[in-house]
Amino acid sequence: MNILISACLLGVKCRYDGQSKFIEKIDSLKDKHNLIPVCPEIFGGLPTPREPAEIIGDRVLTKKGKDVTENYKRGAEEVLKLAKFFDCKLAILKERSPSCGYGKIYDGTFSGRLKDGNGVTAKLLIENGLKVIGESEIMDLDLE
Ligand code: SF4
Repeated sequence: MNILISACLLGVKCRYDGQSKFIEKIDSLKDKHNLIPVCPEIFGGLPTPREPAEIIGDRVLTKKGKDVTENYKRGAEEVLKLAKFFDCKLAILKERSPSCGYGKIYDGTFSGRLKDGNGVTAKLLIENGLKVIGESEIMDLDLE
């Protein structure tokens, strides 16, 4: 199975702070499936490192107030393009991110608090029929 995955979960240092979030438990999946790394914020033209951003209303704003919504949308479209190209039905995305977060995201106050919602890319993938899960749910996956 072809599975999209947030590149930072594979150890790529593409996060806003120039770090990664490698998860050990990915190994068993890697042996059985094709993992396709994506980073929508990079795909959307943003640099690394970059200012942290959060979703506020229908916009994505950096901590200093710069509107980066179009970068986030462009990155999401590029990820969707790959999802279609590789016929992916599942995406494993980094939790809480304003791009990749699924179910819970930071609440827009840059205080670490969470609210219900999906990141821009997670939302677009779901709208296009993909199943999206966060990295903490990998062990619950029951895949062929
Ligand atoms: Fe990771 Fe997604 Fe953020 Fe890229 S946009 S660093 S893949 S959480």
